[in-house]
Amino acid sequence: MSGTCPRCPICNKPSVARLRPFCSRRCADVDLGRWLTEAYVVADEAADASEPDGGG
Ligand SMILES: [Zn+2]
Repeated sequence: MSGTCPRCPICNKPSVARLRPFCSRRCADVDLGRWLTEAYVVADEAADASEPDGGG
């Protein structure tokens, strides 16, 4: 066999084609939660008070 198989960035195990680049659904969830947590911090700053004025 030639070429290197992608490894799970979470546990470094051989990834599954269906869940690339993760090896399991659990690992995919872990990665998702990671960047979601970071997104929350950014969203806090993005909070802007902008209300659309009602008009006709
Ligand atoms: Zn994994």
